[in-house]
Amino acid sequence: MAKDKPVEPVLVIGLGRFGSALAETLASMGHEVLAVDSSPGRVQQYAGRLTSVVEADSTNEEALRQVGAADFRHAVVAIGADVEASILTTAVLVDLGIENICAKAMTAAHGRILERVGATKVVFPEHDMGERVAHMVSGRMIDYLELDDSYALAETPPPQGLVGKTMGEYGVRARHDVTVVCHKPSGGSFSTATADTLVQAGDVLVVAGTCAAVERFARLA
Ligand code: ATP
Repeated sequence: MAKDKPVEPVLVIGLGRFGSALAETLASMGHEVLAVDSSPGRVQQYAGRLTSVVEADSTNEEALRQVGAADFRHAVVAIGADVEASILTTAVLVDLGIENICAKAMTAAHGRILERVGATKVVFPEHDMGERVAHMVSGRMIDYLELDDSYALAETPPPQGLVGKTMGEYGVRARHDVTVVCHKPSGGSFSTATADTLVQAGDVLVVAGTCAAVERFARLA
C-alpha cells in the first residue's frame, strides 16, 4: 500500500479572519504551523491556540529569516486589506526561496501583481464566497463550488422527476448532461452514486458538470 505523504509545515502570514481560520484548520489537520503577525494584540490572541505565533513585520526580509521562514516549503500570505504589505511579503517569500506561496487577493489587479511577483497560487476568498452564495440564494442549491470558469460541483435536492426512481432508470446524464457524484438519503450520510441508487424526496445529490448544466439541474428541484 502507498505510504501517506507526511504533513508538511506551513508558514502563515497574517492572522486576520482568513489567516486565523486557515492556521487553525491546518493545525487541526496535523500540520506544524508557524504564524506571523505584526500586531502584538493578534499574536497574544492566538498564542494559546496555535503552537508557534511570532510577532514580526513580514515585509522585512531579515525579520522573516530570523524566525526561520526560509526553512518552509509552503507559505500562505493572508494579508488582504494592506495591499502593499501583501505584495512586499510575497516578494520577500520568493526571495527566501519558498517553493509554494499561496496569496490572498482582494481584487483582480491585486491578484495579477501577486502572480507577477511570484505567488504560485492566488485566491480570492471574498469574491469566490460571494459567487458561491449567489448560487445558493438564487434557487434550492445547498452548496456550489466552481472548479474553473466552466465546470462546477453543486449540492442540491433531486429534480422532481427523479424522485422514486433509480439513477439508471431516469438517465440523469443523458437527460441533463451532469454526473451525480454522490447521494445522501434523508437522515443518512453521503455515499458514491451508482446506476442502482434509488432517489427519494428529501435526499441530497452532489452533481458535477458545466456551470450552465449544473445550474439548470438544480433549478428542477
Ligand atoms: P481578514 O479579512 O482575513 O480579517 P484583512 O484582509 O482585513 O483580513 P489585513 O487587515 O490586511 O487583512 O491583515 C490581516 C492580518 O495581517 C492582520 O492581523 C494584520 O495585523 C496582519 N498584517 C498586516 N500587515 C502585516 C505585516 N506587514 N506583517 C505581518 N502581519 C501583517
